[in-house]
Amino acid sequence: MLGPRHLFILTGAGISAESGLATFRGAGGLWEGHRVETVASPEGFTADPDLVHRFYNERRRQLHAVSPNPTHRAIARLQREFRGEVTLVTQNVDDLHERGGSPNLIHLHGELLKARCVFCRRIRDWSGDLDTATRCGNCGGNLRPHIVWFGEMPLRLEEVGEALSQCDLFASIGTSGQVYPAAGFVDLAHRAGARCLEFNLEVTPTNPLFHESIVGPAGETVPAWVEDLVSCQDRPET
Ligand code: NAD
Ligand code: ZN
Repeated sequence: MLGPRHLFILTGAGISAESGLATFRGAGGLWEGHRVETVASPEGFTADPDLVHRFYNERRRQLHAVSPNPTHRAIARLQREFRGEVTLVTQNVDDLHERGGSPNLIHLHGELLKARCVFCRRIRDWSGDLDTATRCGNCGGNLRPHIVWFGEMPLRLEEVGEALSQCDLFASIGTSGQVYPAAGFVDLAHRAGARCLEFNLEVTPTNPLFHESIVGPAGETVPAWVEDLVSCQDRPET
């Protein structure tokens, strides 16, 4: 086959911005008006669990009011039509990739539509509100949002590392490259010999690590890139 064979796609809050979900660092490190230490750290949850529950309840409710956009749909198309392998990893906690048709993906930072018991750690689907009185059906412990907060270990890192070591094309879409370890993925892809592309509205500080930077709204640049990749497969090898 001509061209790349294993794609690794990393997405961030920027791809859901065109659906109406606020990004993270955009407004000076605030997430929907809150300091990230307050709403996205274990210490913040211990200090004020009611506030943290209200924050994620609001984010969960917001999901009912938004829809996937052309970027989510284009990535799903790539997963369906690309003849090689596609690993999709998102830092987003929304469900817009799933609703955009993605058959599989890794949620590195957890999911708004799941809750986890702080004691037995059992994870369950959760679409309503949570509060300090919500109990685990298994052990009676408290439930918390299934979100990876600052200082906690991102999910499925072993699988992610394996895929990064095998990819030959790496695309980072709508992420500021400020949250580790995801911000370091481009470096690992580089070492694996992959061509590295960045899709963003602006040139980010991690940009020198990328071979190419595609500047513009992801809703325009990503569908065009996917169209090229998919149609390129049909051209005969020379
Ligand atoms: P970020 O908010 O730090 O950065 C977003 C990036 O997207 C910026 O570099 C911005 O220039 C770019 N961007 C904005 N609109 C764009 C567009 N239309 N097209 C292309 N690029 C665009 O995002 P991050 O790097 O993903 O880090 C945020 C953290 O906060 C993540 O860990 C995530 O879990 C969490 N978060 C998630 C959501 C969500 O699930 N939708 C929303 C906010 C924050
Ligand atoms: Zn439990």
